Amino acid sequence: MSISMVICKPAKPFLEDVPGRLDLGPLIPPREREKVVVILGATGTGKSRLSIDIASRFPAEIVNSDKMQVYQGLNVVTNKVTEEEKCGVPHHLLGNICPDADFTAGDFCGLASVAVDSISARGQHPIIVGGSNSYVEALVSDPSFHFRSRYECCFLWVDVAMPVLHSFVSERVDRMVGKGLVEEVGKVFDTNADYSRGIKRAIGVPELDLYFRTEKFLDENNRKRLLEDAIAEIKYNTCKLACRQLGKIHRLRNFKRWNVHRLDATQVFQKQGAEADEAWRQLVIEPSTSIVAEFLYG
Ligand code: ATP
Repeated sequence: MSISMVICKPAKPFLEDVPGRLDLGPLIPPREREKVVVILGATGTGKSRLSIDIASRFPAEIVNSDKMQVYQGLNVVTNKVTEEEKCGVPHHLLGNICPDADFTAGDFCGLASVAVDSISARGQHPIIVGGSNSYVEALVSDPSFHFRSRYECCFLWVDVAMPVLHSFVSERVDRMVGKGLVEEVGKVFDTNADYSRGIKRAIGVPELDLYFRTEKFLDENNRKRLLEDAIAEIKYNTCKLACRQLGKIHRLRNFKRWNVHRLDATQVFQKQGAEADEAWRQLVIEPSTSIVAEFLYG
């Protein structure tokens, strides 16, 4: 039965003379909300990998919600996905903000809304992924963006037991050093740097300040010791970040009552090579693919 057969036109607009009535707008059925997948997780848990795995199985594009990865540059320090790792999946808000800009949660909401709208308009599903929970919360919960009234969200959380994650992120810092983290920071080092603005807030940059300030005055042993201290501090700060991010996810789930689906990836991190890949497939990809398929098409 069509809607015009159900709603009869009254002789007189029937709500007009009711005092204090709510303006309900035209009597047309609400448009079905578009669907957005949101991937949460502490740093190092494999959120980016999961977003690309999902985008390879469904028509989807990725919107980055890591407040440091939005900036141009420092790709190793901020651990951005490489072109090869993207597997051809379009990424938005990744590395296109001027490194000195003060990019705020409000800026993120504005640009992420535009990206999500344009992805949906192309008939694709937006996947929002990144560790900045305050940005995701601002986008999803702020009434001025009407996000929840326009988009239905499916939240996935890649969780890894903290002690396991701590040793993984510490080793990851060593691998980042191997990929040129120190040299990358050295190129942007500036004696007047302001570590409270832009990309210079990224973990890895302030920690190396003393090293770059003094290295030329030190002998090799002291230089080496100072570098080791800076790397230890980067590891410590990354572990602290992971704990804070986890606390925020618990808050969103337990106090804000977000319906977050938890995927426990701990065992993946306790295995190596092909066994780790198989555990990832079984523990993370398979359940999240079912959840997303049910959400999108169920
Ligand atoms: P808050 O609510 O405190 O702003 P948040 O959840 O929005 O926290 P996070 O994404 O947890 O923000 O980032 C907090 C800080 O951690 C950043 O200011 C930066 O110093 C560091 N950080 C976050 N992501 C990265 C990254 N990809 N690379 C390096 N440092 C990062």
